[in-house]
Amino acid sequence: CGIVGVLSRQNCVPILIDGLKKLEYRGYDSAGLAIQLDDSHAIERARSVGRVAELETISKGLEAHLGIAHTRWATHGVPSERNAHPHISTGQGVAVTVVHNGIIENHEDIRRQLRVDGYQFNSDTDTEVIAHLTHKHLKSGLSLLTSVQASVAQLEGAFAIALICDREPATLVAAKKGAPLLVGLGQDEYFLASDASALVSQTKMITYLEDGDTVCISPKGLAIQDAQGRVVERPVIESQLSA
Ligand code: GLU
Repeated sequence: CGIVGVLSRQNCVPILIDGLKKLEYRGYDSAGLAIQLDDSHAIERARSVGRVAELETISKGLEAHLGIAHTRWATHGVPSERNAHPHISTGQGVAVTVVHNGIIENHEDIRRQLRVDGYQFNSDTDTEVIAHLTHKHLKSGLSLLTSVQASVAQLEGAFAIALICDREPATLVAAKKGAPLLVGLGQDEYFLASDASALVSQTKMITYLEDGDTVCISPKGLAIQDAQGRVVERPVIESQLSA
């Protein structure tokens, strides 16, 4: 239902929580976040059923510069902590985590194949296939960006997704098809959201992604590719929403 992502010089956790609070009006049944720890690059996750305020309480003390967060409106799998996003896939020295808005129509086919590949599922969501699929591509040696692009090529349905992994420091990758996703541009910091209201308190400079786009955000900057893998520029607009 709601996505927020942050790569910042400040602690991203309060920014993620503030963004989720701005998205509360859209309705949700659970909330969660994942961060990449600065030193080890390990992924830490916190999830809770109910209010964002609950998530805020359990994520007190967490600190990082890179993170993703989500408010969930369940479509596949009951509202519960195990079904709350972010979903994670770990093993063989790689951890990758994803938040997702929308529906993956062919999740059953993908799940069947991933089970053959040895993946075990820890939720009843359609979303979890994205985590394992991307893990499989990362394990084969692809970068996070190309892994996400390979995953997206296999997904049917409408989605906006954002992912981080423990192998690429300070790197956030996102993609969209049929669901809104936008990037907020700060001073050497970047924000990602499904709705401008989640980030206008951080920046008013916004780039809307188009269907088929993937974006890679890192300290090197922001790079958008279209569905054909061509590097593209999307217009930067100034949001008229008040913070
Ligand atoms: N289909 C996903 C789920 O049920 C995402 C729902 C949403 O957009 O929040 O977990």
